[in-house]
Amino acid sequence: MASIFTQIINGEIPCYKIAEDDNFIAFLDINPNAKGHTLCVPKEEIDKIFDMGEHLYLQLMQFSRKVARALEKTVPCKRVGMAAVGLEVPHVHVHLIPLNSMADMDFSKKVEMTKDEFEALAQKVSEAINA
Ligand code: AMP
Repeated sequence: MASIFTQIINGEIPCYKIAEDDNFIAFLDINPNAKGHTLCVPKEEIDKIFDMGEHLYLQLMQFSRKVARALEKTVPCKRVGMAAVGLEVPHVHVHLIPLNSMADMDFSKKVEMTKDEFEALAQKVSEAINA
């Protein structure tokens, strides 16, 4: 069965999209550690990040960097942290997390956001990428 991220990529389930190109998509994490927590995902469904071919892996880093720089401009934070986990969704994704403290990297700590907040934030970050 297709991963939940493939279903998002195929438009079968919704997401708060930030950016998309031929090979990657970025959208807000639905259960964020901190406001602006974003996932950058290759469209090709590969389970583990270090099993990716070198070219696609480097392209994912390049795409993630672009999104991270827009996040840093948009979301009040000291810096943007990055993590690769994949214990819940076996489809490569880079977590980008606006950090104000080390606790923001704690995946057991979550913040509540309304649909309106998700939508407004996704739009703001998306505009910062394209600015
Ligand atoms: P992990 O696989 O451990 O790196 O975690 C998967 C991440 O995907 C978690 O932070 C989830 O909150 C996030 N996630 C799961 N389903 C969705 C979804 N439908 N939209 C956005 N984020 C999701």
